[in-house]
Amino acid sequence: MKRFDLLGNRHIKEAAQAHALGSAVIFDGATGSGKKAAAAYAAAALLCRADSGRPCGICPSCIQAAAGSHPDIVFFNENGDNIKVKDIRELRMQSFVAPSQSPFKVFIINRADLMNQESQNALLKVLEEPLSSVFILLAENAAALLQTVRSRCRIYTMEPISPYEVSAFISGMTFEGKAPSSAEIAAAAENCGGNIGRALLSLEKGVPKPAKLASQFTASLGGSPLSIMEVCLAASALTRNEYGDFCSEVTAALIKASLARPEKARAYSAVYDYIQQQRDKLTDNNASVFALSSQLAALCGTTLQELL
Ligand SMILES: [Zn+2]
Repeated sequence: MKRFDLLGNRHIKEAAQAHALGSAVIFDGATGSGKKAAAAYAAAALLCRADSGRPCGICPSCIQAAAGSHPDIVFFNENGDNIKVKDIRELRMQSFVAPSQSPFKVFIINRADLMNQESQNALLKVLEEPLSSVFILLAENAAALLQTVRSRCRIYTMEPISPYEVSAFISGMTFEGKAPSSAEIAAAAENCGGNIGRALLSLEKGVPKPAKLASQFTASLGGSPLSIMEVCLAASALTRNEYGDFCSEVTAALIKASLARPEKARAYSAVYDYIQQQRDKLTDNNASVFALSSQLAALCGTTLQELL
């Protein structure tokens, strides 16, 4: 039987276990941060028939919830499409139908933040009905929801998962039939920024090119100018979007590197500022990736060599 896996996020677990989640809530977090897992966990806990230790995993309600066949848990917009007004009307109709076997229904609305104003206003009407259902809105950007909708909901922000928990979760899993090495698991857990989905993706597909180059770049800072040249040459083949990702990855890595090696902070901060400028130039569309990567090579390979 499937367990209800929800890593970290004790604030959500405890509220759901205590049946104190709220009747309209928003789970706000990036792709891969575990919003769907949190919603499945919360729905199961809310409808579990055990007196404690919810979700118990063994009562009829939990078994149906784990199998995805609970009649009173409605997962709306599973594909993450744009929700239209007619969809919200359909949801409203469903909310009027009495639950089959539970005291109330749980509606999980995926990508609620993609709704346009009209759909959000329609949803607001549903949230304002004196119904006993629980509505869990999943959002990657809760700020995109109307203030009127947000003020009706309790907002739970998804928390980053510790590398230890991510490693423990991944251990024993296989990707395309192959178990990752402990070093690969550790790297995925360390570099995912607390986002379990990202860790899994990096093990499934290998590290994305910009991220790989960014970690090579950061590692080669202060090394031979040739190794920096090599990384920058590889970066020059990236698309504009990929180079933007490369810049983001490098700046994130530089912050970490500065904390780990404060004696190098001045040099790292100079590189950081330079990369930020490059990203601005990239969005202004007035510099080619080739030119930017060559300038970066010159800065780090020669100008800053002393400091690094
Ligand atoms: Zn149960």
